[in-house]
Amino acid sequence: MAYTLGFTDGTQYQSTLGKIVCVGRNYADHAKELNNPVPTEPILFIKPESSAVSLNQDIKIPSNDCHYETEIAILIGSTLASANDKEAEAAVIGIGLALDLTRRALQSKLKANSHPWELAKSFDGACPLTDFVKRDQFSSLNNISFSLHINDELKQDGCSKDMLNPVIPLIVHMSQYFTLKPGDIILTGTPKGVGELHSGDKLRFKLMDKLQLETNIL
Ligand code: ZN
Repeated sequence: MAYTLGFTDGTQYQSTLGKIVCVGRNYADHAKELNNPVPTEPILFIKPESSAVSLNQDIKIPSNDCHYETEIAILIGSTLASANDKEAEAAVIGIGLALDLTRRALQSKLKANSHPWELAKSFDGACPLTDFVKRDQFSSLNNISFSLHINDELKQDGCSKDMLNPVIPLIVHMSQYFTLKPGDIILTGTPKGVGELHSGDKLRFKLMDKLQLETNIL
């Protein structure tokens, strides 16, 4: 069944979810915590539509090495191919949060063998998503703060002002390689504080004063 994209005002988006284009190491403090070099060019990868699940319900994890990465998710509302800044600006129609779930031990093994990351990042359920807040609720894309608490403890606390590639240049860059279509989503990278998830964990997400959500790990 196709994933239905919804807004926090209760309306649905007319396009179904397409692909999810992601960037690795977009915050210097996260690159450092995993002992990765800070990249000079964005590291891009894609999660398929089949990896999406809604954070409005409790979520399942596939293994004990599954890490959370809380990220700002951008909903794209028009076609972008080799876009300029102005076109990219106009295509952003919603802002939400996502978990870029990652099987960290498996990813480390794949990286050590110079293999692609899909087995670690693109499995069914690897992209839990909140509903989207409409774009006009934000004055700027470059000052969006968000946080994740697990079992009432603050684990991640980020702001888009700290991105190495800010939202619009990132979308412009992605559109040089992948045509973005209405219903596609951009994941913008995670700040520091990533870690393992465990069955029974209670997650609380906050996106400024626009969205707050609690979800349990089954
Ligand atoms: Zn990520």
